[in-house]
Amino acid sequence: MKGPVRVSLVGAAGRMGKTIVDLASNDPKIDIVSQCDLGDAIEPAMRKSDVAIDFSHPDAIEEICRVALQYRQPLVIGTTGHSAEQRSVIEKTAESLPVVFASNFSVGVNALFALTRRAAEILGREFNAEIVETHHRMKKDAPSGSAKTLAEILNKAQNITNQVPIESIREGNVVGEHTVFFSGPGERLKLTHQASSREIFARGALRAAEWVIDKPPGLYAMQDVLGL
Ligand code: NAD
Repeated sequence: MKGPVRVSLVGAAGRMGKTIVDLASNDPKIDIVSQCDLGDAIEPAMRKSDVAIDFSHPDAIEEICRVALQYRQPLVIGTTGHSAEQRSVIEKTAESLPVVFASNFSVGVNALFALTRRAAEILGREFNAEIVETHHRMKKDAPSGSAKTLAEILNKAQNITNQVPIESIREGNVVGEHTVFFSGPGERLKLTHQASSREIFARGALRAAEWVIDKPPGLYAMQDVLGL
């Protein structure tokens, strides 16, 4: 592709939106051509871009997908906390468009996903898994999207259907912390990821935006973007 990737940003006034705008302003490969937030129309914003990035609220997803389909616009979805119905709207959209949908865009957390899968396979069902996640007080959804992804990975790797316990702590300004405990007879393994800056998610989302624009329709995870 010639020139910078033209991005429209939904949720531009939020914590993640502002971080993305800051980061993109120093990145010659990215041009944020439109920004919208609560109360703005999404349609004109998405008319001029190559890809749309969403870090807003789950309730925005129907309109985002409707407009993306209208303008054949690939999507990078970072918002978490969607209902089952909202997730099925995303899945339906991904039948026609390339969509990266990731509960966490950081390289470190995606390594945690891969290590959790491997640890669960090695340790087996003798070890009980448990997840603890901590985030800042303003975070709206609980458990976090990443904790739910970890639980899905554990269920699949251990071939179990019972609910993996998740403890959600909301305190202070914590950007994000996820720990997976594996407790077995006489020993305990702990895998922890600590995020200290929102930039890691913003950098990952911009990398996903560059990656997704020439992909065939499908629902992609950050693991696909990173080639893990
Ligand atoms: P925030 O509350 O600071 O910002 C959200 C912004 O979206 C606000 O400015 C709000 O006005 C706007 N908004 C709300 N409803 C909207 C709508 N219908 N249309 C357009 N804009 C709307 O939240 P944040 O910390 O920036 O996080 C945003 C989302 O991203 C949350 O769901 C959060 O869990 C998720 N998140 C994901 C990752 C990841 O790596 N996937 C990382 C951090 C945050």
